[in-house]
Amino acid sequence: MHQAPLPQEYAELSPEETEARILSAKAKLGKRVVILGHHYQRDEVIRHADYRGDSYKLAKDATRHPDADYIVFCGVHFMAETADILAHPSQKVILPNMAAGCSMADMANLFQVRRCWSDLEKVLGEGGGLRVTGHGSRVTGDGAVVSTSLSSSAVTPNPLPVTRVIPVTYINSAANLKAFVGERGGTVCTSTNAPVAVKWALEQGDKVLFFPDQHLGRNTGVKLGYDPDKDMVLWDPFKPLGGNTPERLREATFILWKGHCSVHKRFTVEQIQQFRTEYPGIKILVHPECELDVVNAADYYGSTEYIIKTVEASGPGSIWAIGTEINLVSRLAKENPDKQIFCLDLQICPCSTMYRIHPTFLCWTLEKLVEGEVVNEVVVPDEVKEFARVAIDRMLALA
Ligand code: SF4
Repeated sequence: MHQAPLPQEYAELSPEETEARILSAKAKLGKRVVILGHHYQRDEVIRHADYRGDSYKLAKDATRHPDADYIVFCGVHFMAETADILAHPSQKVILPNMAAGCSMADMANLFQVRRCWSDLEKVLGEGGGLRVTGHGSRVTGDGAVVSTSLSSSAVTPNPLPVTRVIPVTYINSAANLKAFVGERGGTVCTSTNAPVAVKWALEQGDKVLFFPDQHLGRNTGVKLGYDPDKDMVLWDPFKPLGGNTPERLREATFILWKGHCSVHKRFTVEQIQQFRTEYPGIKILVHPECELDVVNAADYYGSTEYIIKTVEASGPGSIWAIGTEINLVSRLAKENPDKQIFCLDLQICPCSTMYRIHPTFLCWTLEKLVEGEVVNEVVVPDEVKEFARVAIDRMLALA
């Protein structure tokens, strides 16, 4: 996404002036605006947030304010899209810097996922397999068109063997991929509910196509008792058949998209060993977007909200090395002065795309709203919203 440079006057503001102008604009807007701040935002931004949370919690927090005209999302693009899908139709969702994307979400686009799906249909459709048609319907091996609703009673019995693939997308994905999944009987998941979502998907079908984060998909499959070598294949969108043979695709239960988070990929088993040597008794806590060997070597792993709760519930004097984004780890250290808290990677940089929400962008956005001008509105087209909402509602029902 493109973001035009800010007017020169914003570039010349000191941090104190920016802070004062944000406070003043927010006060003028009053209840008309709700500001959401993702945990990975810097302190100078997060202190202005009415709610802090991960992407899923924030999207839900926004729905508690149906009377607010504007939802300003200090996070990345897919989060603002999710908020727009869940928001009241009259509400406007604003992303202070349109260039704040997510490199993981960008690793899967609709064109690639559609091509993958069509390849899977060709390979797994042999012998009477399932073909997916247009909105809300599909064709069984015997040619009957059936509803793609969740009810199995709606499916016409098929005498031929059918391999049914259920798509599951991580919430860190574009709205049109959420719609793709919603249209095909799949669901959205978060890092918190991924095991529930994947278990559900495997009750609906035989295989899961999980995108865009291979690591969350693999860690979840292992948690559910699957073998990462035998039961899982990686789908590389730049290779024919994702780099797999038809046999492997038929054998595997999990087809994992080759995507990753550039922040969480930096954590290693060597870092864990080093901390354990230096601080006997230290506890290692990592996010499930980390690689499987890192998750296996850690003491605990879980979503951002889980990480926060685990540290807050720990006793005074406990020592932690945490494998997640640095702004969150630094804030946890500040807010828990009775504990020793380190980032597992001492060289780590913040999530570079989250970091694009500079306080001056927040200031500009709010001041424009005070003037009556909406800038940087994120609008999910209605036709995408419809099926994206179906997939999100399935996730909410599972939760
Ligand atoms: S931390 Fe990773 S998954 Fe989260 S927004 Fe940044 S790149 Fe995307």
